[in-house]
Amino acid sequence: MKVHCPACGKIYENPVQRCECGEPVEFETFKGEPYIGKSVWGRFWDFWPVEPALELSLGEGDTPLVKSKLGKDLGIRLHLKNETVNPTWSFKDRGTFLAISYALKAGYKAVGTVSTGNMAASVSAYASRAGLKAKILVSENASDEKLKAVSVYGGEVIRVRGDYGRLYFESLKLGEKLGVYFMNSDNPFRIEGYKGIAFEIAEELSPDYVLIPTSSGGLFRGIAKGFIELHESGLIDAVPTLIAVQAEGCSPICRAFSEGKARIERFESPKTIAKAIANPYPPSGNAVLKLIRDFGWSCVSVSDDEILEAQRKLASEGLFVQPASATGIAALKKMDLPEGAKVVSILTGSGLKTAPHITGGRIVECPLEELENCIRSGS
Ligand SMILES: *Cc1c(COP(=O)(O)O)cnc(C)c1O
Ligand SMILES: [Zn+2]
Repeated sequence: MKVHCPACGKIYENPVQRCECGEPVEFETFKGEPYIGKSVWGRFWDFWPVEPALELSLGEGDTPLVKSKLGKDLGIRLHLKNETVNPTWSFKDRGTFLAISYALKAGYKAVGTVSTGNMAASVSAYASRAGLKAKILVSENASDEKLKAVSVYGGEVIRVRGDYGRLYFESLKLGEKLGVYFMNSDNPFRIEGYKGIAFEIAEELSPDYVLIPTSSGGLFRGIAKGFIELHESGLIDAVPTLIAVQAEGCSPICRAFSEGKARIERFESPKTIAKAIANPYPPSGNAVLKLIRDFGWSCVSVSDDEILEAQRKLASEGLFVQPASATGIAALKKMDLPEGAKVVSILTGSGLKTAPHITGGRIVECPLEELENCIRSGS
């Protein structure tokens, strides 16, 4: 199970988590052919670095690609990849499942992650299912309410006082020492699991553009690698243009891109309602920046107001997503897309976990005696 560093070229015989140069590592570019089958893991069997532990699957992946009318005014053909229907309601499950498959094979008895949101819930759930202990490191200001959706699965939640940014690196170091396999945001197996999103899209459509809400950069790298592997395998004619979408209040990758810098810098005092994409110093930021440059792709940032508007528009189509997941739709009108372009936006996670944000929505109080009038007068 070799990995290499795309930044400096160094090769490692074992799947280490990061290169000595500080950048993330990745697996080779897999090539293969698709098979007939019920799950994305089986259909794309040639493309995974470790055998998926199918008996532990919760049905992650194989999510719907939904037609949207939100592209009509812009003259584009828009589809939404609905990742909110994954077992713990975000795409993180795809990566967690594959990383857990590796942890079991490698003989680990405990796994962990650094997250307060979707990844924490995902790792807690899959670890319990696999009979592994889970150490979930969260920041000191994570609310009790939010952590219930994590601890309910049985994972051990550890609230850490101190610099949250350093936790990512500390966890990898201590994990090695203590035999805990930390599957953080851009863990190499996680990236591989996210390729399934590209595979499934390509089975249904050949998009011109794919919009990807981006924080650590793990999801972006995974989708990119998926399309590149399909292309190199001769299964698709072209790799689509990938667009990283960030919140204006925390957009280190877009800022470095627009300023023509080769490396990202820490984004000071991040502030956005899109908490799931608010990493001020993304561990795969430089890697995403390099992909965007090499392929002539782009990065677009959107304001909180634009995000909330997009969230409402998606709800009016029957899809309730969290603010981070509405950024792709918010980015649409800031882009100059050609007439008739086929566009896919990734709806990364469900709105239910962040429901308190929601305003609007009409509730009518009605005494039973007045019911007829109430029903008549509704719009
Ligand atoms: C994790 C997450 C993202 C961003 O993924 P990265 O791999 O950190 O870039 C986007 N949206 C939601 C809902 C997420 O949970
Ligand atoms: Zn390196």
